[in-house]
Amino acid sequence: MYYTTQDGRQVLDGTAGLWCVNAGHGRERIVEAIQQQAATLDYAPSFNMGHPISFAFTQKLAGILPFDLKKIFLTNSGSESADTALKIALAYQRARGHATKTRLIGRERGYHGTGFGGISVGGIVRNRMNFGSLLTGVDHLPHTHGVAGNAFAKDEPEFGADLADNLERIVALHDASTIAAVIVEPVAGSTGVLIPPKGYLKRLRALCDKHDILLIFDEVITGFGRLGAGFAAEYFDVRPDILTMAKGITNAAVPMGAVACSNRIYDTLLAASDTPIELFHGYTYSGHPLACAAGLATLEVYAEEHLFQRAADISGYWRDAVHSLADAKHVIDIRNLGLIGGIELEPRPGAATSRALEVFDRCFDKGVMIRVTADIIALSPPLIIETAEIDRIVETIREALTETA
Ligand code: PMP
Repeated sequence: MYYTTQDGRQVLDGTAGLWCVNAGHGRERIVEAIQQQAATLDYAPSFNMGHPISFAFTQKLAGILPFDLKKIFLTNSGSESADTALKIALAYQRARGHATKTRLIGRERGYHGTGFGGISVGGIVRNRMNFGSLLTGVDHLPHTHGVAGNAFAKDEPEFGADLADNLERIVALHDASTIAAVIVEPVAGSTGVLIPPKGYLKRLRALCDKHDILLIFDEVITGFGRLGAGFAAEYFDVRPDILTMAKGITNAAVPMGAVACSNRIYDTLLAASDTPIELFHGYTYSGHPLACAAGLATLEVYAEEHLFQRAADISGYWRDAVHSLADAKHVIDIRNLGLIGGIELEPRPGAATSRALEVFDRCFDKGVMIRVTADIIALSPPLIIETAEIDRIVETIREALTETA
């Protein structure tokens, strides 16, 4: 649960690194698996061939993936997973004879990494504005932040499911025959912990079904127990057609990402190919043996310690603790789900640094690491967190807020 600074201080990790060290740091089992693998097989190509640990790993991963999402493509990051998912969606539409279905729909305030596909469907102006015209044929649904009546909502907010209906507006403008896929983070993390309104994701699924559009869930943050279920798709009981992963897949010990899709998509791609290759796409390090070893050991740790269930069990305590900051100074909204928390502060226009950044510095000095984006504090501790550590994070933030001008 801790980092040690260069001067020897212990800092409690309130963010699981970058939403990724779900089982906590320095897990011996994972370290040993990587060491052993490095001594056994350091590298082998995964183009047109394979090696045993990539199959062992993907088989185990398929075992915990929800619904029929059992065909897996391995990448090295969340960004690669997002671009891979978009390419699978486009290739699938073409393979099934719907070559005009090429438009991609993202969402405002969405984050899907830093590849060209990801920034194009993503909704963060600073990640987009310096990089030319990006992908063409992309539209964005509105974000779900700030809907009236939702401030300080616990778990899923009440209002705003109808924001999904904006897909109808995009369909009316372009026609469903031109739209390949919608991609969303089930819970938007990087832009400030935006919890979907009750029923929103189900409505999006229904509209995608109605218009024959693929639904992609970017589960780079929400995967591997963050919400107290293996994946957000399970938590919300909504089946995406394609699901992206990274971060917690190896407990962040070795870089890795993955994309899962249904048999239907896989079989369609394969049937349309005039070669035994289902998709002309791949990375040198796809299925890297060290990443697979780390991933296998990570999934074993998650299972043996029942960490997804543990996150669910402690999420009520987490919710109450985070919401106890409602009357702290400068707080204008609090959001939570599973082991995620977002605390939004009143902006401080004209100040050299945001209030949240000042809170970050003060918390770090007091031995607690949080994360901030603009005026929002984001929390996502390792799933092994104890109640006393939750109290410490919350009380440290309270103190820091009190001290902040
Ligand atoms: N998608 C989501 C939802 C993410 O949160 C992130 C990283 N924060 C990414 C994609 C990109 O992952 P990476 O930084 O590993 O490329």
